[in-house]
Amino acid sequence: MFNLESIIRPNVLKMKPYASARDEFKGAANVFLDANENNLGSLAGENYNRYPDPHQNKLKATIAEIKGVNPNQIFLGNGSDEAIDLLLRAFCTPGVDALLCLPPTYGMYEVSANLNDVHIDTVQLTPDFQIPVREVMQSIKPETKILFICSPNNPTGNSIDPESIETLLDNFEGIVVIDEAYIDFATAASWTTRLEEYPNLVVLQTFSKAWGMAGLRLGMAFGSEALIAILDKIKPPYNINEATQELVLQALDKTEVLKDMVEEIVQERELLVQALPQLSTVEFVYPSEANFILVKVKDANKLYNYLLNKGIVVRNRSSLKGCEGCLRISVGTLEENQELLKAIEEFGSKDN
Ligand code: PMP
Repeated sequence: MFNLESIIRPNVLKMKPYASARDEFKGAANVFLDANENNLGSLAGENYNRYPDPHQNKLKATIAEIKGVNPNQIFLGNGSDEAIDLLLRAFCTPGVDALLCLPPTYGMYEVSANLNDVHIDTVQLTPDFQIPVREVMQSIKPETKILFICSPNNPTGNSIDPESIETLLDNFEGIVVIDEAYIDFATAASWTTRLEEYPNLVVLQTFSKAWGMAGLRLGMAFGSEALIAILDKIKPPYNINEATQELVLQALDKTEVLKDMVEEIVQERELLVQALPQLSTVEFVYPSEANFILVKVKDANKLYNYLLNKGIVVRNRSSLKGCEGCLRISVGTLEENQELLKAIEEFGSKDN
């Protein structure tokens, strides 16, 4: 049985969060002399002389409506990368505990684990990038506190079979993190609708992909209220800056535009999926539910450099186990995609 308290790091369980005076008063005030700000004003623009709301109440209320969850089930981070890091810091004692991840997958799980001195166990995904559930269950040890599942998975682009995830949620007594950074491009349903069922479930999403706000740095973690309270307790108090809070709040009105953009990106993705296999250099195009495609090519390093020389940057994943010979290519605009296809065709015809 999953027991949240038993897997919180003891120092985290004991500690008190940072509190500001503005947390203590409940009434109205108009003279703020508590936070050593510059009360004359800001060089950057109105409001920026004040610290931002550390609880991001307005933003969370609006996100909660859109996502159909309670505001207390939302943690907001400086990108979902911050949520990944805080999950490790909340639940994995350095030098003692471990996380389990399923390569080829997103690299930050490992980077964060290394930074926090958390041991990493890995179980390779199957050749079609699904979870070998029995092997994963066998790799779980008492020290394993978090299992990271990325769906749709980066860099492979596929969604993970929900039945496998369900089995792991049912049987693993630690936290199952489902990283849904690319969920807006997928036909698969989000796991945010299953939070009530699984107290050990954390879902990560981000404003960096479909919403087009990577530069603002805003990521979300959804979980039980008790679990989210732990992340809120340990986060840097002002992790989401005022400009980000304001700009994202304005953008949340534009769900119609989001829908249109996602549709266009998915259409462009499907055009690439059809066009790429026609090129002699391309051996295989993996099915994608994301805004990128994993493509197996004849000479990945050479093609990668050829594209770089043409001013086209893609991601070379050919040295990653399970992705040998592969490039990961983001879906661009119609013009960019055509430029890419033309360059790959030229590469093939030059007998490289
Ligand atoms: N998860 C996955 C699977 C990603 O691919 C990325 C970004 N590349 C992130 C999380 C991090 O996103 P953010 O910009 O919200 O930190």
